[in-house]
Amino acid sequence: MNKRLAIVSLVLCLTLIWFQSIVLAASDVATIEDLRVSTSDDKVRIVADANKEVDYQSFALSSPNRVVVDLSNATLGKNVSKEIDVDNRYVEKVRVAQFNKDVVRIVVESPVKKNDYDVFGIVGGSSPYRVAMDFGQISYNLGNSSSSGSQSMSNNTSINSNNNSNNYKPSVNVDKNTKKVLKGKVITIDPGHGGSDSGAVGPTGLYEKTATLKIGLNVAEMLKQSGAKVYITRKTDKDVYGPNASATAELQARCDVGNWSDSDIFVSIHLDSFTSPSAKGTTGYYYTGGSYNSQKLATYVKDGIIEQIGTPDRGTKTSNFYVVKNTEMPATLVEVAFVSNPDEEAILKSEDGIKKAAIGIFNGIVKYFQS
Ligand SMILES: [Zn+2]
Repeated sequence: MNKRLAIVSLVLCLTLIWFQSIVLAASDVATIEDLRVSTSDDKVRIVADANKEVDYQSFALSSPNRVVVDLSNATLGKNVSKEIDVDNRYVEKVRVAQFNKDVVRIVVESPVKKNDYDVFGIVGGSSPYRVAMDFGQISYNLGNSSSSGSQSMSNNTSINSNNNSNNYKPSVNVDKNTKKVLKGKVITIDPGHGGSDSGAVGPTGLYEKTATLKIGLNVAEMLKQSGAKVYITRKTDKDVYGPNASATAELQARCDVGNWSDSDIFVSIHLDSFTSPSAKGTTGYYYTGGSYNSQKLATYVKDGIIEQIGTPDRGTKTSNFYVVKNTEMPATLVEVAFVSNPDEEAILKSEDGIKKAAIGIFNGIVKYFQS
C-alpha cells in the first residue's frame, strides 16, 4: 500500500468511526418536544416535555435573578417556542435554547427566593417524561433547587422535614450524602394493583391503584435522581402479568421484577381499607419468616410516611402477603393509609398528599441504607 492510499484508508476509517459514534449518540438523545407554562394564583409551573427520560441539573444566578435548568443529552424540537413572556410576580420570562451539542438550556427569569422554586422530573402522564419547574408557593421541595445568588450546583447535605408546627412543608434535598447512601443500590418499587384490578375504592371513588401508582412513580423518580438503580413493576395503569390473570401469576410477576434484577430491597405500596370508615392509619408489613432487615425496612418506610402525612401509627406487623413472602431480598408491603377513611382518602387524592407520602417512603429507604 503506498503512502497516499494509506492516508485515504485512514481517513475513511476515521470517518466511519465518526459516523458510528453519531448513530450511537443519536439513539441516546432525548428530544424536548414542548415547553409549556401554566399560571395560578400561587405559582407558575413550567413543563418541558421530553420523548424519553432526560437528566437535568439546575442552578441559580443572581442579578438578574434567574434559574438555569440544563437538560443533558437532549435536543430542542423544531416547534418549541424559544421565548415565553410570563410577566407575573413569580416569573418574568422563560427562554430555551440548544446551549451546546448535548445540552438544552432553559433559563427562567424569576425574582423568587431560594425556597420558592423547585425542579423535578415526572415519569409518564401526558408525555413519556417531563421536567417540571415550579415557582411561587410550592407545597413541597424536592431535588435540585439551589440558593439564588449562588453560582454553584446545590450540594446540601441533609434530608429534612421542615416541620415548623403549622407551616408544615416537607422537603427532600437530594444531596451528596443521600447520593452516597443510595448510589448503586438496586431497588424495586411495586405500586399495588393496576389495570383490571382497581384495588380498594374510597368513599368518593378514589381507586387504590391510582394512588399507589402516583406515589410509586414519585418514589422511583427521587431514588433515580439520587443515583439508585430503580425497577418499577408498572409505570402505567396496567396489570403486571396481564389482564384478569390469577392472583398468583400477577403477584409472582411483581416478585420476578425484584428477584430477577437482584434488587437490594423490594417495596410494595398499597392502601388499606375497612368496612368501618373510622379505621385509619399506616401499617408496615414484612414476611412472618422475614429477616431483621425486612422488619427494619418495614418500620422505617412506615415511620417515614407517618412523619410526612401525620397518620396514626398502626405499627410494624408480620404477614404472609405474597409479595413479601416470595421476594428474595428484604421486603415490605406498606399500607400508606385507609382509602376507606374520608380524611385519609382526601390526603391521597391531593397532589400534596401524594408527594408527601412519596417523600416519606423515600426517607424511610434512605434511613434503611444508612443504618
Ligand atoms: Zn392493596
